[in-house]
Amino acid sequence: MVARHDQTTDPRLQEDLLQARRGTAFFARKLNELTDADLDGNSLLPGWTRRHVVAHVGYNARAIARLVEWAATGVETPMYSSPEARNHEIDFGATLSPIALRNLFDHSAVHLNVEWRDLPADNWHHKVKTAQGRTVPAEETVWMRTREVWMHAVDLDNGASFSDIPEPVLARLLKDITGAWHTRGTDTGLLIKVDGTDLAFGDAGTADPTIISGPLPAVVEWAAGRGNSGVTPTGPGTTEGTTAAPKWI
Ligand code: ZN
Repeated sequence: MVARHDQTTDPRLQEDLLQARRGTAFFARKLNELTDADLDGNSLLPGWTRRHVVAHVGYNARAIARLVEWAATGVETPMYSSPEARNHEIDFGATLSPIALRNLFDHSAVHLNVEWRDLPADNWHHKVKTAQGRTVPAEETVWMRTREVWMHAVDLDNGASFSDIPEPVLARLLKDITGAWHTRGTDTGLLIKVDGTDLAFGDAGTADPTIISGPLPAVVEWAAGRGNSGVTPTGPGTTEGTTAAPKWI
């Protein structure tokens, strides 16, 4: 069925879709501010130029669209055939001409949005499998895309910052990241506190924890391994401004 509006009537999902679409628009804006020559410059991600970031965000939309198609048809279509194929695709994409790279971003984003829009309400609960092997309802694809577009807009390194990311997105990111640490047991003795809130993450059971605190955007920036300028580390093992976050992904 083809419709001009979302098939889902779930207000929470509609709100999540809005955050994904806002993030996509934000990434598009930052990308449009870059000249073709700027694309050759470094991103915030080690070893990646801005070209790599744009290629990755484009191919990510295609990969997520494959999951939505899976939820729509029941035919299993993985995000990527292998991690190597994913990386190879990004390296290839980074060599595209600037116009092709910009088209990749635009077209893949439109395609994903159409897949979301036309997914029948019931199919949003259908299970799909992420590249990491997690089985999730199709609804999860919205969050998977949301965090990609917002964070990688910052990674373009042309003026976007974590404080541009909406608070609900930041809060969910922090939950994801600290949850991943917890699963791996890499958060021992580490406590994360968000200024002006009761939000605390990490290892609450230690008597003398290393505490990382700061405003929400700064704490998430630090936790995501993107910098530590806005956080204050205190407690054992901290040298001011140098405490690295555990690995996230
Ligand atoms: Zn990514």
